[in-house]
Amino acid sequence: MRHRGSRPALRGRRGDRRRGYARPMSHQDSSSFEHLETIAIHAGNTADPLTGAVVPPIYQVSTYKQDGVGGLRGGYEYSRSANPTRTALEDNLAALEGGRRGLAFASGLAAEDCLLRALLKPGDHVVIPNDAYGGTFRLFARVVARWGVEWSVADTSDPAAVRAAVTPATRLIWVETPSNPLLGITDIAVVAEIARGAGARLVVDNTFASPYLQQPIALGADVVVHSLTKYMGGHSDVVGGALVAADAAIGEELAFHQNAMGAIAGPFDSWLVLRGIKTLPVRMDRHSENAGRVAEMLTRHPKVTRVLYPGLPEHPGHGIAAKQMKAFGGMVSFQVEGGEEAAVAVCDRARLFTLGESLGGVESLIEHPGRMTHASVAGSALEVPADLVRLSVGIEAVDDLLADLEQALG
Ligand SMILES: *Cc1c(COP(=O)(O)O)cnc(C)c1O
Repeated sequence: MRHRGSRPALRGRRGDRRRGYARPMSHQDSSSFEHLETIAIHAGNTADPLTGAVVPPIYQVSTYKQDGVGGLRGGYEYSRSANPTRTALEDNLAALEGGRRGLAFASGLAAEDCLLRALLKPGDHVVIPNDAYGGTFRLFARVVARWGVEWSVADTSDPAAVRAAVTPATRLIWVETPSNPLLGITDIAVVAEIARGAGARLVVDNTFASPYLQQPIALGADVVVHSLTKYMGGHSDVVGGALVAADAAIGEELAFHQNAMGAIAGPFDSWLVLRGIKTLPVRMDRHSENAGRVAEMLTRHPKVTRVLYPGLPEHPGHGIAAKQMKAFGGMVSFQVEGGEEAAVAVCDRARLFTLGESLGGVESLIEHPGRMTHASVAGSALEVPADLVRLSVGIEAVDDLLADLEQALG
């Protein structure tokens, strides 16, 4: 019997078929690299065995010639199950997050959908944060809930609130830190302890921080979720998602579901993300530096009533962020005097900050969460303030960014 979805290595022995969804032989022992800057560039990125090409080629192919029935070259048989460009990215992701298995998907939400269907069944209960990404909330509330999964919302920055939300049926606790768009901070190690005590798994959406700034698995998370669309890709040119499992058994379960459900990342998208990741550390340093300057300027601005940035000492999660993050990231939200109309006007007046959804690219973006990214949570426990503006601070010259915000605030 042949198993679709074996995870082959590019240089696997001829005819060598790995069974099931076991982790593939690594091209390169990335565990020997100590530093994330090196892992980002080298994990999964071996020279092409055929040509020596120093980056993995885009294997734009659906199927692979077999040398006799079942005689796979390196284990590849069909690109939904495995494709060498995607394998390179998946190995890179696993190494970056310090997990046993990385899996790449067509979008962040496709990754989340796969995770939830793999780990939950009717009657199970999940705890979700009160400021989750809007699409994550919509997936729970309007899709997964229809299949009999119960959920409750908790302020995950408050461990007592998480404990209170846990029921005997809780199988999963979802954490997003820093959160979108309120930049709330959750103590990952503390919630990991609560999850363990409850027999539940801890899932951390690490999209805002990236593995360069924060390592959830080292802090006790079972699965890390990414929208690769954001900082990992980093150039606003690709939509993708990822799951990284801390443990091989969960990794196999997720890999089975990835193949069974099929929402995989294509070869070109995988290649773009892999390229983006190489500069992740330098980009995150600059994003964090620029965002820190922007946040500081906003705190002094007379039209700004509140600045939400974990790097500010007055942020309620500052101490925890300083403990579990290397720097504070590129996302800054703020509230303005004059309510919703004033917030919308700031967004409209910005010129260098492009008005648009999404985040994490090299170019700065501005948006009004209430009417844009978080419109889907209006009227729910996750509703965001109407006078809130969210910035994705890019890596341009910070003085140009500051000048644009000054003029936009009028
Ligand atoms: C964008 C985003 C997602 C969803 O990812 P897509 O790639 O848009 O499907 C999930 N979580 C967070 C924190 C996000 O910002």
